[in-house]
Amino acid sequence: MARNNSERMYHFSREQKNPMVGCDFNCIYCAFRKLQQRFATCADCKTFRPHYHLERFLKTPARTGENEFVSLCLNGDISFASDEFVLRVIDYCTQWKDRTFFIQSKNPLRLLDFHFPSNVILGTTIETDQMYIGKDRIPYSEISKAPFPEMRYQAIRLVENNDVHITMEPLIDFDPDVLVNWMKDIPQLKVINIGYDSRPDLNHLPEPPLEKTLDLIDRLELITEVRRKQIRPA
Ligand code: SF4
Repeated sequence: MARNNSERMYHFSREQKNPMVGCDFNCIYCAFRKLQQRFATCADCKTFRPHYHLERFLKTPARTGENEFVSLCLNGDISFASDEFVLRVIDYCTQWKDRTFFIQSKNPLRLLDFHFPSNVILGTTIETDQMYIGKDRIPYSEISKAPFPEMRYQAIRLVENNDVHITMEPLIDFDPDVLVNWMKDIPQLKVINIGYDSRPDLNHLPEPPLEKTLDLIDRLELITEVRRKQIRPA
């Protein structure tokens, strides 16, 4: 179930491996949490409390070709893991040096505590630049308890040894000049994934109009590779 979800979100993901599951950021749009609540058999997975499934390290990861990767700990947020667990992830990625892995966190400052091998792509989500969104000035903190997107940008721009992917999904209304300037300022940036919420009927996010998003994509494509996900009218 989680694998299918991942494949919709990340077409270049060969496999999703989740030796850690869970997250306390409580994003209102979190599809992973909703899927776990519905289908998981593990009690901790059901509550989405951060916890480990270390036996999943025992399985050989899928081979990865050009542009492909194995997603690690995407069914939660690795920033809630212990140092020991993150070091184990680093050992695993080092052991499988001929594979490419992708690790994403909404608290990338935590990733900077570690030295990930060069076959790991690091990522974060930047769905908006705004702390108060739209004409109703909805506080971002009502959408997610994760560090504000600006803090994520400030952290991910400090990555030196790994490629960086940014996910602008689910898109929330934004200032295009700010987002473009942030993306220009991330030295290791290689890919931007961009798309609208896959469940607008449930989440009712303050979305940008389609024309504004298409203009943003045109500007981002001058900076790096942009991979379009679900692009549709707001
Ligand atoms: S950070 Fe990711 S895993 Fe955590 S609640 Fe938000 S969408 Fe879900």
